This record gives sequence, C-alpha cells and structure tokens, in this order.
Amino acid sequence: MIRPEEGNRGLRLEEPLIFELDTPGAVGVDLPDIPDAPDRLGGLARNGPIGLPRLSEPRVVRHYTRLSRMNYAIDSGIYPLGSCTMKHNPRLGERLARLPGLGDLHPLQPDSTAQGALDLIDACADWLRALTGMPAVAMSPAAGAHGELTGLMCIRAALEARGDARAKVLVPESAHGTNPASARACGYAVESVPADSSGRVDLAALTDRLDPTVAGVMITNPNTCGLFERDILEMAQAVHAEGGFVYCDGANFNALVGRVRPGDLGIDCMHLNLHKTFATPHGGGGPGSGPVALSADLAPFAPLPWVLRDGGGWRLAEHASAVGGSPLGRVKGFHGQFGVFVRALAYMASLGGDGLRKVAEDAVLSANYLLARLDGTMTASFPGPCMHECLFDDRFLRGTGVTTLDFAKAMIDAGVHPMTMYFPLVVHGALLVEPTESESKETLDRFAGLMLRLAERARAGDAAWFREAPVHTPRRRLDETRAARQPVLRWTP
Ligand SMILES: *Cc1c(COP(=O)(O)O)cnc(C)c1O
Repeated sequence: MIRPEEGNRGLRLEEPLIFELDTPGAVGVDLPDIPDAPDRLGGLARNGPIGLPRLSEPRVVRHYTRLSRMNYAIDSGIYPLGSCTMKHNPRLGERLARLPGLGDLHPLQPDSTAQGALDLIDACADWLRALTGMPAVAMSPAAGAHGELTGLMCIRAALEARGDARAKVLVPESAHGTNPASARACGYAVESVPADSSGRVDLAALTDRLDPTVAGVMITNPNTCGLFERDILEMAQAVHAEGGFVYCDGANFNALVGRVRPGDLGIDCMHLNLHKTFATPHGGGGPGSGPVALSADLAPFAPLPWVLRDGGGWRLAEHASAVGGSPLGRVKGFHGQFGVFVRALAYMASLGGDGLRKVAEDAVLSANYLLARLDGTMTASFPGPCMHECLFDDRFLRGTGVTTLDFAKAMIDAGVHPMTMYFPLVVHGALLVEPTESESKETLDRFAGLMLRLAERARAGDAAWFREAPVHTPRRRLDETRAARQPVLRWTP
C-alpha cells in the first residue's frame, strides 16, 4: 500500500498494491480454453495457480492511472533538469513508431524482409552524419554512457592499430560522472583538468598535461556549466599534435544542433543522446539510444553490425569479414534501439534543417531568458550569456539555513520538477536549469516567478518551512541530508 506519510496535506493518494486488489472470480481478459496437452511440455506443466492478481479491466486501468498521477512527467509540466534535455516528445514520433510495419518487426527477420527498416536506420545515420559533419555513425550503442564507452573503444583500437597503446584520458573537472567512469571502464587512467575562473577548461592546464601517453581528451561542449568552450579549436589542435583523439560528450548537442558541426571543431568522436536532443521519451520511461559519430580515422573500427547497401539492396554486415577493416564486435544485442531511431528520424525529418537550427536557437534563448530573470535574486555562477542551460550556485541561500536540496523540495511542493542539483561539482550547491525550446514564454515566466518567490521566502527566514517540504506528495522526504552534504559523485583520479 502506498500511503501518504502522516501530516501529508495533499490529495488522497492511497493506493493498494495490485496484489492487494485481487478479487476471486474477476477477469480482465477473455482467452480461449487451452487444450490440455501436458505431454507437449515434457512433464513441466504447471499444476497449481501462479498467484497473479485477478481484476477486471477497469480496475487495472484505474489502478495504473492513479499511480501514474502520483508521478511527474514532461507531459504534466516543465522538467528543467539540466544536462538531461527533457523536451516535449512529439506525438508524431509515437504514432510512426507504432506503425505495424515498424513496431512489429522482429530483429531476427531476414534482411530481405526488413529492407525498409535498414533503410530507415541508414536515413537516421545520414541525418546524424550531416548534423555532426562526421563521416560515420555507429548506431547501436544503447545510451550516452554506452556511446562514450564505444567511442573510447574505437579510439583505443585505432591507437593499438598503429602500435601506439596509450595509458590515460584527460577529463575536465566539470565533466559528467559517466566520462571518467567510461574511461576507466575502457582501461584508461583518468587525469582531471581544472576549469579556469570563467568556468571553462583551462587551456594552459590542458596543454601542460598532454604528452604521448594521452590517448584522448573528453570534452563536453557546451560544458556542464552551460558555457561554450571557446578554445575548442586550440584544444583539438594541441591534442592532435600529441597524437591523441578528441572525444566530445554530445549530451549538450541541443545547444548546437543545426548551427555548428562538431566535426568542424576538430572532434574525432562524439555520442549523441537521441533521447535528449532528438526528443524520444526518457527518464523512467523508454529506452535511450547513443549513436557515436566517428571521424574517418576512427570509422574503420565502428562496432558491428554495419548497415550496407549493394546491388542486392540493404544488408546487415554482422562479421568482420563482411566489412573489411577491423571493426569492434557487437556492443549491443541486435541493431540498437530501433524504436528510438524511428522517433528521432521523425523528429529530424519533420523539423528539417531549418527547424533543427531553430531548436538550438530557441533552447539558448529560453535559458538566457531565465538567466536574465533570475540572476540578481539567485546567484548565477558565471557571467552570461549562457548556452542552453543556466547555472546558479547556493550563494543566494547563504545564511538562510536553506540548502539547495531544501529549495528543490519546496519546488516539488509547488508542483514543479526541480532542476539538476549539486552538479556540476565545480560550483557549490549547484542548481542547473535547462528549460529547452519546447516551453512557452508563459511557462518560463511562471517558473521564474516561482523561483523568485521561493528565493525571497528563503531570505525571509522561513528555513523550517523549507525543511518540511515536500508535504503535498505521496512520499515525504527521505533522509538525504547526509548525501547532500557529501557529494556522492566526487571522484579523485
Ligand atoms: C545524460 C548525460 C550523459 C549520459 O547519457 P545517458 O544516455 O544517460 O547514458 C553523459 N554526459 C552528459 C553531459 C549527460 O548529460
């Protein structure tokens, strides 16, 4: 039973478990009688009930609908989770992904019966090649972090192919935790690169650390402070001069899509979070997808399978002998997240090149609008303008007894999903706000109004009220105070 904690003043939000709703005799489906053929199961036939709850269809529908209403989703309101790009997922993509010819495909179908699907995978890759300005895209990685690992494995393979095994990867201190984790998982030592006072990678510190043992540098651009890395060309040049590769964490591509081609910035390898930039549902929802764009030097090492076209039509090359080169083996079962490809392709094709450019422009405009509305009352960590997300720290809460965590809990009580907190680690008590292009000015104004009212309430000395929050939710606060005081994600190379 999900029960409100004592003191909850919210809606009536009690909900039994579905097993507690079991009603003898109730049925929700009408299946034909199954012929009794125990011999066909080799003696493994079940001889007792399996204990599934018995309910009518309306009770099941209402149970799950009530549960879903205890949740928060991009479909119920603004979801300004910095670095996660929680934008509206157009219903067009959902409709197309459910077309029987796409939704009912089986991954083991012969290529000859899946020509349209293979064509679709390549069409999706083609858009990504055009948008990144990079010649190859490996489509199969399952999410951003998986794309990072795959990209680093390509870098490793390319270095080893030229007899140049290297030991370490440089990662800026503002990087997402998956970057150092992926580098370690790929067998590299990780060395941190400090930020300068403007919140960007310190170019001199980076070049100091470059030597022939560095396999590559992982850059996020714009970085997780929402700032464009202005020295990216110099960085790439310096890394290349030492024989290393530049990996770009593409999670923030929403700020650049249609405006800048990462390949033109000297990037060798970059994952794209289709579920972020290209609007497919994520966050406790659908699967992600993290294709990796590769430079010409890295392309021969792209993982299998490859989608190729010859005189006989499209085919899936599943063995190294079929592609030449020295591809990595599979990094994922079958061919990747096909349903996500359909949605991402629908998104790109329906917006077109000009529409995608407008995505980036409006995303950056929205973030700068919030930055302008909030700065002064809240404390922006770095002077504007920002890219697609704006970063505040907790200086505006100093002396109030209210922490970033308390502030976020009060936002939940007000019916809004909080921003990302305590990340990036380069500022104290971070509040990273990413509104995305799909929020209207009216929503941004309401959001800004709420943030300003909460900041004033904190300053008015209402710390006890903040510490109580949330009181209007099915669950009250867990004991997160210790975690908040000691950042869990701190990593020391
Ligand atoms: C989301 C994100 C990742 C990881 O992507 P997943 O798809 O969640 O694995 C990596 N880096 C940054 C900056 C991100 O925001």
